[in-house]
Amino acid sequence: MADVEAARRALEDALGQSEVLSDPLALRLYARDASLVEGGCALVAFPRRLPDVVACVRIAGEHGLPIVPRGSGTGLAGGSTPIGDALVVVTSKMTDLIEVRPADRLAWVEPGLANLDLANALRPYGFTYAPDPSSQQTSSIGGNVSTNAGGPHCLAYGVTSNHVLALDVVLPDGNVERLGSEGPETAGYDLRAVMVGSEGTLGVVAAVCVRLTPLPPAVRTMLLDFETVAECAATVSAIIASGVVPAAVEMMDNGIVVAAERFAHAGYPTDAAAILIVEVDGTEAAVEEQAAAVESAASANGVRTIRVAADEAERALIWKGRKSAFGAVAQIAPHYHLHDCVVPRSKLVDVLAGVYDIAERHDLIVTNVFHAGDGNLHPLLSFDRTVPGTLERVLAASEEIVRLCVDAGGALSGEHGIGLEKRDFMPLVFTAEDLSAQACVRSAFDPDARMNPLKVLPDGARCGDFAMARGNDAARAAAELPEGAWL
Ligand SMILES: Cc1cc2nc3c(=O)[nH]c(=O)nc-3n(C[C@H](O)[C@H](O)[C@H](O)COP(=O)(O)OP(=O)(O)OC[C@H]3O[C@@H](n4cnc5c(N)ncnc54)[C@H](O)[C@@H]3O)c2cc1C
Repeated sequence: MADVEAARRALEDALGQSEVLSDPLALRLYARDASLVEGGCALVAFPRRLPDVVACVRIAGEHGLPIVPRGSGTGLAGGSTPIGDALVVVTSKMTDLIEVRPADRLAWVEPGLANLDLANALRPYGFTYAPDPSSQQTSSIGGNVSTNAGGPHCLAYGVTSNHVLALDVVLPDGNVERLGSEGPETAGYDLRAVMVGSEGTLGVVAAVCVRLTPLPPAVRTMLLDFETVAECAATVSAIIASGVVPAAVEMMDNGIVVAAERFAHAGYPTDAAAILIVEVDGTEAAVEEQAAAVESAASANGVRTIRVAADEAERALIWKGRKSAFGAVAQIAPHYHLHDCVVPRSKLVDVLAGVYDIAERHDLIVTNVFHAGDGNLHPLLSFDRTVPGTLERVLAASEEIVRLCVDAGGALSGEHGIGLEKRDFMPLVFTAEDLSAQACVRSAFDPDARMNPLKVLPDGARCGDFAMARGNDAARAAAELPEGAWL
């Protein structure tokens, strides 16, 4: 039984009164992330340093409160939406860039630092932090690590996991462990990789060692527009099939182009059925070569015009439209819902047609803006949830979209994670045995199920008996090694 009052007093003693919130308004503010699901919590705490995080975890354990780690709350899957008498541990006051070591190509950062603040801080050293989610102005590095965030430039550079060398993690029992290492390889199991994308279910990330990526010497940003969505989508496959992997290939359909243009005034062609933003980078020669391949793939697929950003200001404007697209849809309707399923690039044309069909059947507005190079769809259903019956239609349509993507050979999430919103879809792609194996990993870190309960794994996914039986078989086999087997 949780003793919230005792936990509050202990937290105030450890962190200071101003770092603990318990009034109803504050609790309401931290009851959800940027997704549609809302929960509730008992307390909110703001650690400032690693020992404060340890104190939060220990005190929550002593007083029976589950822990929900939270960065900036921009998650789109309900990962930091608390349930029940939880203690929400918010890292937004842990924003230090601890150290930058250009010679080692690494930096240590606190988890609450915003992604863009890190990238900007690295620029004077000639480096960047490559993963650039569209939420990068706000989303935290700890949140990015915990969702294994992607972004436009992850097509060529790889997602968050490829840019995290090591993590200092406060485990559910309050112990601090370093997972991974500053060096290229760690002995034993790669627990750093297990932690990345674990959505706050295994511990609280209290410091992150990130890999630095050199700024490219040359960059070219192109805006391509098409008369049909099919030609636009086919161009994406054609570019990749040509052997070129651009730094970014982002696709926006007409509905989103119009909304983004009204907001950002980026000069987007609002009469196009769809546009692509393609960026290539590298040496001048490599940029020339890649741009030529992109132009030829686009020409073969009916491109209308290709606009090349003339300077950094124009490039920034083109990206501003793309990166503010989710916000810009507020002009269409007050709420939106999306899933970030991934489909094979070769299926983009068919799946997009299916998405439009589903929206039409449910009488909903859908717009599409997504990391097309990765096949990572983001169909945005815009609606007003105060209109009776609308939310039900949105959820029915979104389930059909998820099933469509899975049937096309896709994955449930390309970057936002599973959280609460996609948790019950997990059996669509994983067998009971798979889910049980994942539950075993989880309980190895968190045997008492204290970290971010009810997230990621559907109800009933337990570290099961069959897995234990196999473990015993393996142990028996090991015990029966023939004499002399050990060197
Ligand atoms: C407009 C908009 C655009 C977006 N664009 C992208 C995009 O391009 N790519 C992309 O990947 N995502 C995108 N997102 C989703 C979201 O920004 C990312 O998932 C981001 O990584 C979440 O970071 P956060 O700090 O807000 O984390 P939160 O939402 O606070 O938390 C996300 C998850 O991480 C866990 N967590 C947070 N901090 C810690 C920690 N220190 N230790 C352990 N667990 C922790 C939480 O428990 C939760 O499960 C977008 C969201 C919005 C609103």
